Amino acid sequence: MHLKTLTLRGFKSFASATTLHLEPGITCVVGPNGSGKSNVVDALSWVMGEQGAKTLRGGNMADVIFAGTSSRPPLGRAEVSLTIDNADGALPIEYSEVTISRTLFRNGGSEYAINGSSCRLLDIQDLLSDSGLGREMHVIVGQGRLDSVLSASPEERRGFIEEAAGVLKHRKRKEKALRK
Ligand code: ATP
Ligand code: MG
Repeated sequence: MHLKTLTLRGFKSFASATTLHLEPGITCVVGPNGSGKSNVVDALSWVMGEQGAKTLRGGNMADVIFAGTSSRPPLGRAEVSLTIDNADGALPIEYSEVTISRTLFRNGGSEYAINGSSCRLLDIQDLLSDSGLGREMHVIVGQGRLDSVLSASPEERRGFIEEAAGVLKHRKRKEKALRK
């Protein structure tokens, strides 16, 4: 399974339809500051079901819709589609290629689709969650996060590892119990 194409239409700074073709392996997106690299990553989280506006670096969800520039009026909807190569059947669906899409209208309405058939957000989350994709399963390391890991003290760095391994909450509980 690998991500094949990501199409943004009216999403953040991508007013015109823009398609990124991804190959198996590592993909790098390079460009000047403010050119929309992080917006591409936001689009990926969004189409996979992200519901937190803050995680998407906005104040509310409508902030993902192209807000206009001096030369271009704002748009009424944002749409992102992600095509996943499913030749190995990692996604539990009878298609060798799966396209999930999400649309948000400025009036607040949302639409979701799997291979062009409209569905619920839950259907997309269910489809992805069995495959290591989907909410809380893939990992997105935000900008500045690597710096904070590299410059962390040994204790802080151990904290990151414990958090990732899921033992931090047990350590906190142990510390709390010992204080009593
Ligand atoms: P850096 O290298 O500094 O991290 P970047 O390439 O990651 O930059 P982004 O954060 O992806 O840049 O893009 C920021 C740009 O996207 C800003 O110019 C901002 O105005 C624009 N932008 C964000 N949301 C919208 C929106 N809803 N409508 C129009 N433009 C937007
Ligand atoms: Mg960025």
